[in-house]
Amino acid sequence: MPKTTNTHKKTSPRPTRKIAKKHATHSRAAKHPKTPPKPKKLSKKEQEVVIARERLIEETRRSAYLLENKNFTQHISSNVGTVAPQILRELAKNSKTDEEIASQLNIKVNDIRRSLNLMNGYSIVKYDVNKDSKGWLIFKWKINNEKLESYINKIESEMTKTNEPNLPGDCNDFFMCKKCYSDQKVILPFDTAFESGFNCESCGKPYTILNKEETVALFQQTAKQ
Ligand SMILES: [Zn+2]
Repeated sequence: MPKTTNTHKKTSPRPTRKIAKKHATHSRAAKHPKTPPKPKKLSKKEQEVVIARERLIEETRRSAYLLENKNFTQHISSNVGTVAPQILRELAKNSKTDEEIASQLNIKVNDIRRSLNLMNGYSIVKYDVNKDSKGWLIFKWKINNEKLESYINKIESEMTKTNEPNLPGDCNDFFMCKKCYSDQKVILPFDTAFESGFNCESCGKPYTILNKEETVALFQQTAKQ
């Protein structure tokens, strides 16, 4: 038993010494700026490439997510054309020329161009211009996520405005002060009006009673102003 341990010990120092030497050269090189170590770190340009690639992946994901919004899809279909969501889905994958989109979707390039120009008017798409080998200008289209997002938000807020307001379901009578409404835009449910004795808390005049339909109409009318 002790014999084997001994032989083992005798053979082991070699690799250990080697490793130690390697370590030594490394730390020495690091201390002396004149012999700089091979940079493990990426160069600035390489870093920029990595960052740009990550950003692109992130933007692609964001585009795909935004395009899942059904209200937007409906809106853009009726305003630009049914081809618009398809074009955007193509651009969400990567930037493309109008001709690339046309061949991908099997749609006439003129229709693609028309849609792209309309969507460019909404700023939800943009393009980069490059020259090809023959000097022709190449327009590569892509989605403008910032604008797309704010466009979607705008549609959504407009939709909630025109939708039925969230009235208490079990309440059929509502109250408002005809004198103060234009300033305060206050519509009260029964309970709240009851608490103030059905008189306006601002001017003291009796409240006007509204049924549910009148209340909804008033809400919508106010939302449009
Ligand atoms: Zn009043």
